Amino acid sequence: MKVIRSPKEFQHRMRLLRRRGSSIGFVPTMGALHEGHLRLVRRACAENDTVVVSIFVNPTQFGPGEDYKKYPRRMRDDLKKLRREKVDYVFEPTASAMVPKKSSHPVRWETSREFHRLAGVLCGKYRPGHFRGVAAIVAKLFYLAQPHRVYFGAKDYQQTAIVRRLISDLDLDIAFRLVPTVREGDGLAMSSRNAYLSPAERARALSLSRVLFVLRREIRAGRRGIAVLRQDAISTLRRRVDRLQYLEIVDAETLRPVSRRGRKCVALAACYVGQTRLIDNVIIPG
Ligand code: AMP
Repeated sequence: MKVIRSPKEFQHRMRLLRRRGSSIGFVPTMGALHEGHLRLVRRACAENDTVVVSIFVNPTQFGPGEDYKKYPRRMRDDLKKLRREKVDYVFEPTASAMVPKKSSHPVRWETSREFHRLAGVLCGKYRPGHFRGVAAIVAKLFYLAQPHRVYFGAKDYQQTAIVRRLISDLDLDIAFRLVPTVREGDGLAMSSRNAYLSPAERARALSLSRVLFVLRREIRAGRRGIAVLRQDAISTLRRRVDRLQYLEIVDAETLRPVSRRGRKCVALAACYVGQTRLIDNVIIPG
């Protein structure tokens, strides 16, 4: 497994591989790898000749006062895990190599991808600029890696909608692979941020997935309307977590709120438990 830090060298290597006819599967991450990330890596290994994982805590997707500084960084551990999975390349650039102006806030891009609606709803309402930062770095990583296939987790559903849109708007020749959310035995969605939770908070955090599972079951059963079910879920969750930011039921593609069951939809929520912001979602087939 080769670890590359320089964007230019990385781009050069990837270009050579492509020329030799090797298919490239790419998994972008922010490190502190857990089983959720590894599921993406395994899928990439099964479908490609060469597997590339990037580890980069993207400063441009964190807002002021968010956890950029304290975000867990476990490079040694991460490399060990990736070696075990037989990953071929790890791209681990520095912030100054990836963003125009070091890692300070606000980072200014002269060139950026703007999203007119997708990035302003759900998490975008509470994290202004977040998806602009995600899209800028994801686009840059795609240009550098020149992958045939990219792997993203359903855990960050809004991000997947945005990356898909980026690929289709720019006609990038990249196949998008959505990998289902990997959960702990009790249902909590795996996340690098779960490490922030105390045992008592960990227990309360469980209500997020529980409420979403109930909601999915009820929507599928179709006995009660979506608006009523949503209100019930909101009331339950409000009692159990510290701050509920949103709970919405939206069309799986457009992310517009739905009021009736029809096309595939997604129920998503974001809340705080203590100081930790958690997100989760469930996909409900049409
Ligand atoms: P992150 O390191 O949090 O930026 O995540 C990197 C990739 O792993 C993203 O595509 C995430 O959606 C995905 N991911 C993170 N947690 C999970 C999980 N529990 N299940 C599936 N994919 C995940």
